[in-house]
Amino acid sequence: MLHLTNTLTRKKEAFTPRDPKRVTMYVCGITPQEAPHLGHGRGYVVTDVLFRLLRQMYGDGSVVYVRNYTDVDDKIIEKAAQLGVPPERVANENIATFQRCMTNLNILTPTHEPRITTSMPEITDFVQTLLNKGIAYTTAEGDVYYDLLKLPACGCGYHYGQLSGKKPEDLMMGSRVEPNPLKRNPGDFALWKAAKPGEPSWLPSWANGVAGRPGWHIECSAMALQHIGPQMDLHGGGEDLQFPHHENELAQNVGAFADLYKDANSGFARLWFHWAFITVNGTKMSKSLGNFTYLHEAIADYGPAALRYWLLQTHYRKPVDYSAEALKAAAKPAKRITKVLEFLPVGVVTPEFQASFLGALNDDLNTAKALALLNKALTNQDYANVHWGASLLGFSA
Ligand SMILES: [Zn+2]
Repeated sequence: MLHLTNTLTRKKEAFTPRDPKRVTMYVCGITPQEAPHLGHGRGYVVTDVLFRLLRQMYGDGSVVYVRNYTDVDDKIIEKAAQLGVPPERVANENIATFQRCMTNLNILTPTHEPRITTSMPEITDFVQTLLNKGIAYTTAEGDVYYDLLKLPACGCGYHYGQLSGKKPEDLMMGSRVEPNPLKRNPGDFALWKAAKPGEPSWLPSWANGVAGRPGWHIECSAMALQHIGPQMDLHGGGEDLQFPHHENELAQNVGAFADLYKDANSGFARLWFHWAFITVNGTKMSKSLGNFTYLHEAIADYGPAALRYWLLQTHYRKPVDYSAEALKAAAKPAKRITKVLEFLPVGVVTPEFQASFLGALNDDLNTAKALALLNKALTNQDYANVHWGASLLGFSA
């Protein structure tokens, strides 16, 4: 049985889907203001292995995986203004680069890949629901905020700050929150923002004629509802998304569906998982520090199999340290695997190998152990086992 670390409870838990015929997973996608970096590669390789494992367990057609594109955002608008091109061109070009990288890395295409620009009725409906319930409020300027003091009591036991492990009082009125005279409480967050002239904008019925665009968090609640429903099995993302993004997404869903969320097992997501960063000499890889590597460049320099091998050597909840030496070292075993896949017949996997390999992945996705088993099978020339294990880790279709 699959066990995963649930961010919400901070425990490794047995995973049982709500419906084994329709196992559902939502993973936050990219904001395409620029080409994806190595950290994106890590997150979506990890999720790919989880997707493959779920398909192996429940059947290919029984797993619904949704990964979105935040294709309207301040950063995209800013970038477009710098380049003097329309924002949708910036978004489309970077989404195209991202999709090429995903294909090169042999990452399976999710069941649904919604964009904000194609999910706008669902997004405005979600805002409307929160307004109707009195949990959200509009300002004279045309913004809509979530009123944290109106978060309903929920049978799921949720309180604000629970997911990210922060104290609600710090989040709601503490010094960490930027004061904004338009908000009722300092911690209230935007569901909708009035648009400035020239920005992409929409005009929902409740907006009193002021055009605007959605806040970041509401998009994922709405796209998850559109393609999965109010309740899902697995929700994932990078660890930097725990706060504010996922905390606020969860608060939105509890706001809209508290009546439905009767207990801890019937809340928004049964299990929340988060992967760690890529580091360089122990420091987080980030554009501002200049220690940044684009995903397409790393794929070109080292090859997709070496990149996948290097990423899967480290447990997803621990940082992966990037260096050219580490990637070159990963290239050798990766090449041994791809040669078997290319030149040797598939054959029949042995039940013992299958059991131990699944045992490793079922233990909170222990991909390092799975790779060690794959290497042992290579050494023993158990090529049928190599084929089977390599496919589950995504080295082949
Ligand atoms: Zn999201």
